[in-house]
Amino acid sequence: MQKQKHVDLPDGIQQNVSLQSYTTWRVGGVAQYFVEPATLQDMLSYISWAKKARLPITVLGFGSNCLVADEGVKGLVIVTTKLNKMHALSCGVVAECGVSLAQLLQYTLQQGWGGLEWSAGIPSTIGGAVRGNAGAFGESISGRVVSVLAYTENGVQLCMGNCLQFAYRTSIFKHKLWVVLSVCLAFSPKPTQQIQQRIQECIAYRKRTQPQLPSAGSVFLQVQGVSAGYYIDKAQLKGVAVGGAMVSPEHANFIVNIGSATASNILQLIKLIRREVYRKFHIKLQTEISYIGGNVGGWRLPYTHKI
Ligand SMILES: Cc1cc2nc3c(=O)[nH]c(=O)nc-3n(C[C@H](O)[C@H](O)[C@H](O)COP(=O)(O)OP(=O)(O)OC[C@H]3O[C@@H](n4cnc5c(N)ncnc54)[C@H](O)[C@@H]3O)c2cc1C
Repeated sequence: MQKQKHVDLPDGIQQNVSLQSYTTWRVGGVAQYFVEPATLQDMLSYISWAKKARLPITVLGFGSNCLVADEGVKGLVIVTTKLNKMHALSCGVVAECGVSLAQLLQYTLQQGWGGLEWSAGIPSTIGGAVRGNAGAFGESISGRVVSVLAYTENGVQLCMGNCLQFAYRTSIFKHKLWVVLSVCLAFSPKPTQQIQQRIQECIAYRKRTQPQLPSAGSVFLQVQGVSAGYYIDKAQLKGVAVGGAMVSPEHANFIVNIGSATASNILQLIKLIRREVYRKFHIKLQTEISYIGGNVGGWRLPYTHKI
């Protein structure tokens, strides 16, 4: 029999919390330890506790780009959505990592600042958006980021410019597995009416082209500028299902939970799509989403793996 390691729990940490309601796919198992810090200071103390206890650490924003394994997540899961304070600057803000893009967009609209309209309808925290360099309609968050306060292997550091290594759907935070603590963003003045009109156009486009069922947005990255959905559609995979997971009939790069999906259903469907697209076009699709937890991986920070 394996000996159970005793861990002293700091205030605020819960055990065995289901992560289903913390991801937009609404699937996955439990977090061994779970916390929603209210201040960055608390977040840093929880990180330091987990490191001392030799527990892996996973940071989650809105869980809108994550597949949480059915087996759950070992170690500490930190959900950032209560870290939602913003500090105003003359033509920008410093936002804590849990501030939503919707909250930021609303603020820029009130101030008459343009530059974030493309993000309307993306269910993201600024921390998640920076890590994956979220974007749409030819723009991305990197275009607005001035600097990022990050937790790194050498402690807390301010990163800017080339250090952030922004490129299509990636940043230093994918390579180094650092944690985004807060982000400084800059905007440019723009007539409010123009901002509102662009926001409405972006939302209308999403409504027309994207499914309403639980999903994680686009599952696969573009292939040399071509949407992965183009190949998935050409491979006639729209509507193909494994258990409760289905390739959306409306948008081939979305996998939707039609009611009773498991993470394992989604994983199998991802493998099926890859196999079929490779068989028909000799193209190897790469995932945009993060796979979190399960039986793979080690003492990493955050505890995510490539699939
Ligand atoms: C309906 C729908 C539409 C979407 N449309 C788009 C789109 O147009 N463009 C686009 O780019 N994406 C889109 N997405 C995907 C998703 O919203 C983005 O990738 C988003 O930026 C993820 O943010 P999040 O806060 O939910 O991150 P999460 O999903 O919680 O986390 C994603 C990854 O980032 C890590 N992470 C989270 N917070 C931090 C942090 N503070 N520091 C370090 N790592 C962190 C997590 O560990 C995980 O590996 C869409 C998703 C949905 C459901």
